[in-house]
Amino acid sequence: MVTTYTIASGKGGTGKTTLTVNLGTIIASYGKETYIMDADMGMANMAILLGLENVPVTLHEVLAGKAPVSEAVYDGPSGVKVVPSGISLKGFQDADPEHLRDVMSEIVNHCDFLIIDAPAGISRDGVIPLAIADEVILVVNPELSSMVDALKTKILTELIGGHVMGAILNRATLENTEVSVHKIEEVLGVKVIGLVPEDPNVRRAAAYKTPIVIKYPDSPASREISKIAAKIAGKE
Ligand code: ADP
Ligand code: MG
Repeated sequence: MVTTYTIASGKGGTGKTTLTVNLGTIIASYGKETYIMDADMGMANMAILLGLENVPVTLHEVLAGKAPVSEAVYDGPSGVKVVPSGISLKGFQDADPEHLRDVMSEIVNHCDFLIIDAPAGISRDGVIPLAIADEVILVVNPELSSMVDALKTKILTELIGGHVMGAILNRATLENTEVSVHKIEEVLGVKVIGLVPEDPNVRRAAAYKTPIVIKYPDSPASREISKIAAKIAGKE
């Protein structure tokens, strides 16, 4: 059974952290033991989205060998377990991404699902989450640059032995955009498993440090994210 997903995109700001947090929250609400982990260790903002920015131990300390994983796990909404990264640069410098695989193996031992938020780009710490997950999900915005970066990420994932299960088109609008679902499927060679609209409630929810699926469950983005979560967790 697939248990570990990495949410990646190549390009920054596509919605990886937003989707990781909200997919994890929904899947946890099904009663599945679900962890979300912030592997975007340099630009960590999962903690900020969930109001966990002042926690004492994060993935940084775990990867620096200063604390066990169990001490970096925090309760999030709907019972989702959160492994945040720290927001300090010093913590980032000390963290060794080579230990990510061990951390993942330990978490997977006692959960149903682990969703990993990957960094943008193709740095060393960015590549590891692509290789260690059972499946990678690419987040694409309706812009050509985003699709090109997603394609690079897909090629890289396969080069290092990972597998891409599909793409999510995030921030879709009704206007004609540079990139259609058909185009994404053709260029990336994977299915688009969800289409999340541009929705101002995403930012509103972020201001409350609460996932949009909790704060505004009936908003357009929440409805689509819920459908994707159901697909991932085999609920449909
Ligand atoms: P990443 O983790 O890929 O850098 P984030 O999840 O931090 O991206 O999202 C980047 C910005 O885009 C944030 O300000 C977020 O609120 C906004 N955003 C993400 N998805 C949507 C959406 N569907 N509608 C509107 N704003 C969005
Ligand atoms: Mg992010």
